[in-house]
Amino acid sequence: MAANLLDFDLEGLAAFCDRLGEKRFRATQLFRWIHQKGARDFAQMSDLARSLRDKLAGAATITPLVVVSEHMSADGTVKWLFDVGGGNAVETVFIPEADRGTLCISSQAGCAVGCRFCSTGHQGFSRNLTTGEIVAQLWHAEHTLRQRLVLGAGERAISNVVMMGMGEPLQNYAALVPALRVMLDDHGYGLSRRRVTVSTSGVVPMIDRLREDCPVALAVSLHAPTDALRDDLVPLNRKYPVAELLDACKRYLAAAPRDFITFEYCMLDGVNDSAEHADALVQLVRRADVPCKFNLIPFNPFPESGLLRSPRERIATFAERLQDAGIVTTVRKTRGDDIDAACGQLAGEVQDRTRAHERRRRIPLIPVQPAARA
Ligand code: SAH
Ligand code: SF4
Repeated sequence: MAANLLDFDLEGLAAFCDRLGEKRFRATQLFRWIHQKGARDFAQMSDLARSLRDKLAGAATITPLVVVSEHMSADGTVKWLFDVGGGNAVETVFIPEADRGTLCISSQAGCAVGCRFCSTGHQGFSRNLTTGEIVAQLWHAEHTLRQRLVLGAGERAISNVVMMGMGEPLQNYAALVPALRVMLDDHGYGLSRRRVTVSTSGVVPMIDRLREDCPVALAVSLHAPTDALRDDLVPLNRKYPVAELLDACKRYLAAAPRDFITFEYCMLDGVNDSAEHADALVQLVRRADVPCKFNLIPFNPFPESGLLRSPRERIATFAERLQDAGIVTTVRKTRGDDIDAACGQLAGEVQDRTRAHERRRRIPLIPVQPAARA
């Protein structure tokens, strides 16, 4: 079967070229054609020998994802829905800002973690994306946008990547790491480690591996100051409780490109948004001694969750309490609201194979007592 070259980082492509009897510098040329110029057709690659182009045409493809739809929001946010086969679709979102262009990428069709407040989680897990499918989201967005935006020579449309789309990236580790390497490679997208963020619900052993293999910026979805509450909101907490997660964060900082961890915290009305929760968070991160920033995300409601967004004033008060304790805190702006492009609304059209939502309905929401185990 022909290899999809989007599946390879530069090392992988060099090994592939070696199997074809080609030198390493050919792999670099090819890699640049694919990722820097957005080429799909080997015939275009004018500086490669005809004999190599013919060889490639027989042994390889550059297979992008199939676009189901594209929506552009009034604020410039763009959302693509890609078909990944078997009735599954994943979403990718581009968020333009004055000083950067951020692409939010999916890592799985569905997600097995099953967080209570997440629409992807409610669908259950369908499958891991391949490296090629993760990279193809960036490939498509960068080269589509580059044609549309008026960019100077050498300018890129996408300056930042966040692995915050559908899925838990650290539960698809083998495909994730080569994809990150393509993003970082100077012959690929040339993004700095500080501008590539992996967001995780807290897969502790994989946080340690990422530190060793490919340390990029880390965001951790915390959402609760105690195990009792986090067990309920983020079921993975039962396996990797808060104290272990914070220890892993601390270890990660030894190799991280930034000197803090970003904690994401989804603001859920009456669930995790009181002054006591804020104070418990301050105690928690102080005790654990983890340099951090908080990013409060106003919950994006969907009917099956049975949850509501915290009122604006409560979010502001919560942020103030953290800030008064010396923790840098931002409240995420909701972008692309008119096209359902915000966090947790990236539902795609994944088939619900696990009936996760039915299982979850039987688990009662635990009332909040912040000071407990963690
Ligand atoms: N699985 C990873 C990355 C994808 S989710 C993780 O959980 O970190 C990206 C972010 O969106 C996470 O912080 C997640 O908690 C948040 N999120 C999920 N559903 C949401 C919703 N309905 N409203 C607001 N934020 C949500
Ligand atoms: Fe999965 Fe992240 Fe959604 Fe939790 S918040 S279900 S880990 S995608």
